Amino acid sequence: VKQCLYNIDNQQNLNAFVRTYDEEALATAAQVTHKLHQQKAGKLAGMVVGIKDLLCYQDHPVQASSKILEGFVSQFSATCVQRLVDEDAIIIGHQNCDEFGMGSSNENSAFGPVRNAIDTTRVPGGSSGGSAVAVQADMCHVALGTDTGGSVRQPAAFCGIIGLKPTYSRISRHGMIAYASSFDTIGIFAKDIRDCATVLEVVAGADTFDSTVSKQPVPHYSDYLTFGKKAKIAYLKETLAYTGLQDEIRLHTTATMDALKQAGHQVEAIDFPLLEYVLPTYYVLTTAEASANLARLDGVRYGYRSPSAHTIEELYTKTRSEGFGQEVQRRILLGAFVLGANHYEDCYIKAKKIRRLIKDKLQAILSDYDFILLPTTPSTAFKIGFNAHDPLAMYWADVYTTLASVAGLPAISIPNGTDHQNLPIGLQIIANSFEETHLLGFANYIM
Ligand code: GLN
Repeated sequence: VKQCLYNIDNQQNLNAFVRTYDEEALATAAQVTHKLHQQKAGKLAGMVVGIKDLLCYQDHPVQASSKILEGFVSQFSATCVQRLVDEDAIIIGHQNCDEFGMGSSNENSAFGPVRNAIDTTRVPGGSSGGSAVAVQADMCHVALGTDTGGSVRQPAAFCGIIGLKPTYSRISRHGMIAYASSFDTIGIFAKDIRDCATVLEVVAGADTFDSTVSKQPVPHYSDYLTFGKKAKIAYLKETLAYTGLQDEIRLHTTATMDALKQAGHQVEAIDFPLLEYVLPTYYVLTTAEASANLARLDGVRYGYRSPSAHTIEELYTKTRSEGFGQEVQRRILLGAFVLGANHYEDCYIKAKKIRRLIKDKLQAILSDYDFILLPTTPSTAFKIGFNAHDPLAMYWADVYTTLASVAGLPAISIPNGTDHQNLPIGLQIIANSFEETHLLGFANYIM
């Protein structure tokens, strides 16, 4: 804990944490040490964990990196956080992120941008940028982020670490501040696959507080980190043909696939013409869900209230105009638009149908193949400010990660070399629903 606090203190320029719980973490460490001596310590004893500022932790503030939740304190812990605490993990603080998880660069935060530790003029990715950098720069061992459309995998790729998004519904969302509820998934950052697997087996599984969470039994993922058989791997031709893909990432991805072939695995190309519809489908549906989820932030019930409002109407409009950042306001407007009576059928309903097509097609592929391999991101970490004024360019950063999100499939990003500037490249592996055991085993095998 002391070493982590020292690393946090010495790298404040990275802006990874929005709050640290120094005294508390040291006190917990002392208690856990005592339990260890008595051989009564939990499975995660000694593991220092950071949590994204979107996860509730009882009696601690949480703000979703937004002004609108200023002053809000959680009355309960998210199920995933509680399960960590119950196994004697040490929570060291809340980590910076894009406001309400909306962004791909961690520049949309009321607390300011996070910097990539490899090159501080570059973004760490988003939205869980603070969590990725905290693990990258040894400020904690593991971090919990949230991945709605790539927010764990994309920053993991930009920072050169592991980022896992499990199957949708594998981990309870109770106590996670909602962005788009039919996509939102808690994810895990680590440098070591075993840490990732151990944390997953602690936090996953049924929860009476979330009726959407799966009741499927939770395997002991950390017992199965080997991959003994020959895998059948598909890659989607369109992902490598995408013109926005940086050449070096294409080369690294194909080199890894060639190496797998050499080692006796089967690697085959598949047509996936639906790729160009994935991102629009994702943004229509997530903005619709976000506009509904964020309606509760009205200045009456939580956090910030505009001091200059005189009527109830003004209270709503001023609180929301002053409290939400630009990107969040843009998404609420987009969501309200696609849900409006004039566009509901041709935008929202159509996107729901396309989502089903994408899901069916991916599931058909995965009934025949063990894994789909693709890059995590089309580029390596870009400069801070580079995409800041071009929301569409920013959205295209998610072209490869939204695929698994739209289909609810588990996916992991692992380091796959670096480009000529020494910036990390990520490789993404997608598996069939609830196949995390294979996914982690295979990721470990490739690494
Ligand atoms: N960048 C994507 C978005 O802004 C993904 C965010 C996320 O996964 N929370 O929607």
